[in-house]
Amino acid sequence: MQFQSDPRRCVLIIDDDPAFTLLASETLQQAGFDARTASNSRQAVASFESRVPDLVLLDVELPGSNGFELCATLRLMSPGIDVPIVMVTGHDDTASIAQAYQVGATDFIHKPVLWPTLAHRIGFILRARDNMRALQASERNNRALLQALPDTIFIVDRHGVLLQHITGDDKSHRASLVGKQLEQVLPAGVASAARQAASGASGRDPSTYEFSVGRGKEQRSFEARLRPQSDGTLLIVTRDTTERQKAKARIEYLAYYDILTGLPNRQQFVREAGGATRTAREAGRSMALLYLDLDRFKRINDNLGHSVGDALLKNVARRLEQSTKPFELVPPPPDDRRAAQARVARLGGDEFVVLLTDVADEAQTAAVANRIRQSLAEPLDCGGHRLVVTPSIGIAMYPQDGTDIEDLLVKADMAMYQAKDQGRNGYAFYGHSMAVRSLGRLELENDLRSAFQNGDFQIFYQPKVELSTGAIIGVEALLRWQHATRGWIAPDVFIPVAEETGLIAELGDWVIREACKQLNAWASEGLAHLSIAVNVSVQQFARADFVESVLRALWQYGVKPEQLELEITESLLMRNVDDTTACMKRFRAAGVTLSIDDFGTGYSSLGYLRQFPVDSLKIDRSFVKDLHTSDDDAAICAAIIAMARELKLKVIAEGVANPEQLEFLRTHGCDQVQGYLISQPIPVGDLERLLRSPPYGVSKEKAAVSTPLVDATP
Ligand code: C2E
Ligand code: MG
Ligand code: MG
Repeated sequence: MQFQSDPRRCVLIIDDDPAFTLLASETLQQAGFDARTASNSRQAVASFESRVPDLVLLDVELPGSNGFELCATLRLMSPGIDVPIVMVTGHDDTASIAQAYQVGATDFIHKPVLWPTLAHRIGFILRARDNMRALQASERNNRALLQALPDTIFIVDRHGVLLQHITGDDKSHRASLVGKQLEQVLPAGVASAARQAASGASGRDPSTYEFSVGRGKEQRSFEARLRPQSDGTLLIVTRDTTERQKAKARIEYLAYYDILTGLPNRQQFVREAGGATRTAREAGRSMALLYLDLDRFKRINDNLGHSVGDALLKNVARRLEQSTKPFELVPPPPDDRRAAQARVARLGGDEFVVLLTDVADEAQTAAVANRIRQSLAEPLDCGGHRLVVTPSIGIAMYPQDGTDIEDLLVKADMAMYQAKDQGRNGYAFYGHSMAVRSLGRLELENDLRSAFQNGDFQIFYQPKVELSTGAIIGVEALLRWQHATRGWIAPDVFIPVAEETGLIAELGDWVIREACKQLNAWASEGLAHLSIAVNVSVQQFARADFVESVLRALWQYGVKPEQLELEITESLLMRNVDDTTACMKRFRAAGVTLSIDDFGTGYSSLGYLRQFPVDSLKIDRSFVKDLHTSDDDAAICAAIIAMARELKLKVIAEGVANPEQLEFLRTHGCDQVQGYLISQPIPVGDLERLLRSPPYGVSKEKAAVSTPLVDATP
């Protein structure tokens, strides 16, 4: 990663979740930082005392005390030293963000943490702090700003005349304001409040006023605290709050705006659109919500890299603003001269939305959709590449399609998929398209039921290789559906439908029974050393008789429990922690192996790894894919492997497709690999041929010395 620190900057990571601290410190060390960790307030304070770090990463939730208290303590321990404290909060937890700011936090990041961006974010905060220090140093030399130094104190008599003028610095050359009237020193509003307080008219309670001086970039914010004294004078303390206001504004900005494009984020959009909906309701107007997704954006990101992808998104954001801003350019119907307003936001990834308030009708909305398409048809300059992207746009109309913004978002999103199905680079209105779409979905559901009864499902097997020996030690069972008219349908398409319709329970049971049957057959064919990993849906786990049904299948086919491995995805695992843990413990007790699939894509709070009785982690293939070209992905993989080793878990990398990736994984101590480099998922007959032919047909001992894995590609 880029910013090598010089000398190495030190980050103190405070979190009671050992897996989080480990993954964070590994990631930061890979990026050239020094990382120290503390798991509670006591350790954190001791570590801070022994050496003040350059930055603190602090979890909001700490056992014993809480993160906010600790943040305030650390601030007190380092008066005048601007160590950035970055609070780690739950997603969208705006209350925590506000509180974090109050206790002196500099910035915050959300959990789940996006590991590839962590080091960049921290580097950014440190650079911002350095810039701020430089700015402060230059400000000290700036005579004009000396006029506004923090903590200027005035003492005023009953008639509003300044008796004393004490400045925060010691510059005797500065003209004293003694003898002047309040109005000559303070802005009108504050001066009049101070005059009232000085004359005793507003009682003896202290009060605080905010005001600003100057314009544009020169503008500075102040606060004036008025304290009536017992001797009848008035004490006024003015303080420059410009930096504090800026920090506050930045924190609010980060919570409500997308950093990459500067557009409002989903939260801000929903807030604004809520207001727009109310106005439209009261005025009886129509609105249109356009949900826009870039066609094949992933391919650009994958092939040209994330920096090109980011540049593209920024460009698209600008084009969207341009093509919707002067909305009057879209000729309104002759009898309707109202000019509609457009609000553009980025929801995440390559998804944008445009809300048109006060549109006349669908024709006018369609004209805007076309204008967006035309504006994107001009090539965009992105990091040295000239790219053309096309959008698919789904449109939902207010009030016909929905009356609240969440509902409209769902419907516009559905219409967007319809636009994609119709061949991309187009738009579809919710009302017209959805009847057709739900018909397609219904067909899929019906087909799924009959396919199961007709035996149209097959299991393909993808081998897993132990890196230390080069031998195939097991396979993953992957479902395939051969549809009578649509051809092969991928599990990513039908598993979600099977889950929604509940069919997954039967289908999943079938896969487990088939796997056991296969293991039984292999036992008598000299392939008894193989294990089969089966993917399990969380709904299967939720069923009361799931454990029994698996154990029954093992027993029925005489399979040793350790030959069956159950894979459950990281995100699904988190949905129902208690039931899932209970189930897993029973499987563990029976000897069945358990692994976490697609690891790294879900929650990054990894404390549960200790709590769940798992045997292995499968690094998600999205990290493996760019391992050999992306420093970030390489750092993540290395960190996951290191963390798994610490927790004594086996690590499997999936999606290994080339020798460079394999070499990296081998060097970093990954245990097993699976991917197209060794073999695609294949029918059982092909797998058996692969197993019996060299290099896998040789003994394990021989394989360890003689098998070049790369040559094993069938
Ligand atoms: P998964 O468990 O992560 O399975 C690995 C997926 O990666 C498979 O996709 C496999 O074909 C693909 N893959 C393996 N090596 C490579 C490679 O080198 N390059 C690339 N690009 N891809 C590779 P597949 O078979 O389409 O399965 C997709 C997902 O569907 C699986 O992801 C799994 O979550 C789910 N699935 C499959 N079978 C079942 C099942 O019986 N039950 C349940 N609940 N889910 C299943
Ligand atoms: Mg899997
Ligand atoms: Mg996976």
